[in-house]
Amino acid sequence: MASVVFPRNETIKVKPVSIRDVKIEGFFNPYLERNREKSIPLMYGLFKKHGTVENFKIAAGISKKEITRRLATDSDLYKWLEAISWDLQNYPDKRKEKFLDKMIDLVRKTQEPSGYIDTYYTGSFKKYRFKFLENSHELYCGGHLIQSAIAHYRSTGKEKFLDIAIKWANYITKKYDNGELSVNDGHPEVEMALVELYRTTNNKKYLELAGKLMEMPYTHLGNKCFLEMNEVMGHAVRIMYLLCGATDYYLETKREDYYERIRLLEEDFFSGKYYITGGIGSRYQHEAIGLKFELPNLMAYSETCASISLMMWLYRMFFVRQDVKYFNLFERVLYNAFLAAISLKGTEYFYVNPLASTGDHFRKQWYDCTCCPPNFQRFMASLASYFYATGNDEIWINLYDKSRARITLENRETVLINMETDYPWDGNVKIDVKKKGNEKIKIHLRIPDWSSITRIKFKDRVFTVEESCYFTLEIIDDCSFEMFFDIKPELYCGNPSIESDRNCVAICRGPLVYCLEGCDNNFDIFNLFIPSQSFEEGTDKNFHGIIRISGYGMLNRDTNFLYRKGIPEYQFNKVKFNAIPYFSWANRKPSSMIIWVNNYENKKRRSNEDTG
Ligand SMILES: [Zn+2]
Repeated sequence: MASVVFPRNETIKVKPVSIRDVKIEGFFNPYLERNREKSIPLMYGLFKKHGTVENFKIAAGISKKEITRRLATDSDLYKWLEAISWDLQNYPDKRKEKFLDKMIDLVRKTQEPSGYIDTYYTGSFKKYRFKFLENSHELYCGGHLIQSAIAHYRSTGKEKFLDIAIKWANYITKKYDNGELSVNDGHPEVEMALVELYRTTNNKKYLELAGKLMEMPYTHLGNKCFLEMNEVMGHAVRIMYLLCGATDYYLETKREDYYERIRLLEEDFFSGKYYITGGIGSRYQHEAIGLKFELPNLMAYSETCASISLMMWLYRMFFVRQDVKYFNLFERVLYNAFLAAISLKGTEYFYVNPLASTGDHFRKQWYDCTCCPPNFQRFMASLASYFYATGNDEIWINLYDKSRARITLENRETVLINMETDYPWDGNVKIDVKKKGNEKIKIHLRIPDWSSITRIKFKDRVFTVEESCYFTLEIIDDCSFEMFFDIKPELYCGNPSIESDRNCVAICRGPLVYCLEGCDNNFDIFNLFIPSQSFEEGTDKNFHGIIRISGYGMLNRDTNFLYRKGIPEYQFNKVKFNAIPYFSWANRKPSSMIIWVNNYENKKRRSNEDTG
């Protein structure tokens, strides 16, 4: 199986689909191409320039230079190697395979006979090994080593990278077993990697170590063990990676206490801790998730890695329960917070993804802490495996894009799926199913939460669905069906408890959140008020074929005060505004940006005027 996550426990009825079994040809295809042809090659040059590759050469004894000390930089290289491995599944390339072999040889040379591996803690820093695990990222890097090695093994069938990871995992396991180590890494990551290593090798000691680590308090997550946590708080990436590990652990052990804790945390998270873009982590301080409804826009942190870790967790939750809410939110993150993180050229990244900007927030090619870019690359390279899931005689379709899939079910039926669509620009999805056998199978179609009325045309019948769910079709022979999602520009509001969205509206169209950029609007976008209306829309061929939304708004000219007596009274001019998908912002000249715009509520104003 060549998927990212592969649950082993036989009681889990859902199975993943390999990356190589799904060929994406639509909206995401240019992203996959840019990832392969631009982002990944460019990163190698940057790794060489900034010492990441050199560190490995020094630790391997090939170079005599000094290690450049940047904590956890080994994990950047591992994530990047993981991206190349996943990408090989649909785009086999002997030259790249050879390159991977060369890089893996280099990594192997840095591993000590004991199994220890981490270029940071070599030379004069060797004395600090395991001395401050809560901040050292040693197990964090080891976790990325394992994940990268598993990706290489699952994509190429070669065991040489996996052997390095196993040697390291054995070394660490022994250290915890004999009591030499008794605290966990302050940055969770190794937990889910150890569970995946158990799934790959069937060696239970890795699963047990994952459990043992989660029974130790996490310094940066309220100093609590996983089973003591009552809310999703603290460093966003850390808590999400831990939730991934805990969910993987639950899937394999079916421990009831883990299930209850995961569900408790899930409820807390869904009740008020993510942005309309799907981004998470509202505080710059400690890169943390804030209180419930604490979701500032201009000062949103919303780290790119946090968006990725959230999708990783939601995918794992789908294996626990096939509740439509997981992929509804997954889709929200994917098309908004995640896609906005990379420039349309595929060469610059956001680390922080705010929901408003005064014009001073830009993507960069390189960050001193460059965790996000290679994380983006590995996730993008594995995107195809998130589209479908299977069971004994069933298939879940979780994401939509023009694509072809070849899926083999547990009951040995092979099903070919051809999906024709212009999603997310257009809501029509035509699906052709060809079957090799004649068993009855069920196809569960995700009906997104944003589609008010969805029609499904199947064998001369039309079904109407008005609520988000998995809509199930039973199929025996080859067949076709069509889905019509209700995609149109619509206004959204937030819970009034979200201070920064109060009296504001956001424009969305299907899964895409829209924003206004200063360079499209010749006025102060922060003083715009928009009423309900029928918006206009049109494709912009000169700007990556995006669909723009335009409409009219009321621009307040009475801005020359900070505070004054009385209720708000403004002086309005009618103006035309222009909005673009959030994922495409900051790709032209520097300009301001806003998602949540003041709401101009016609009726209410009129009644105020009548009685006043
Ligand atoms: Zn990051």
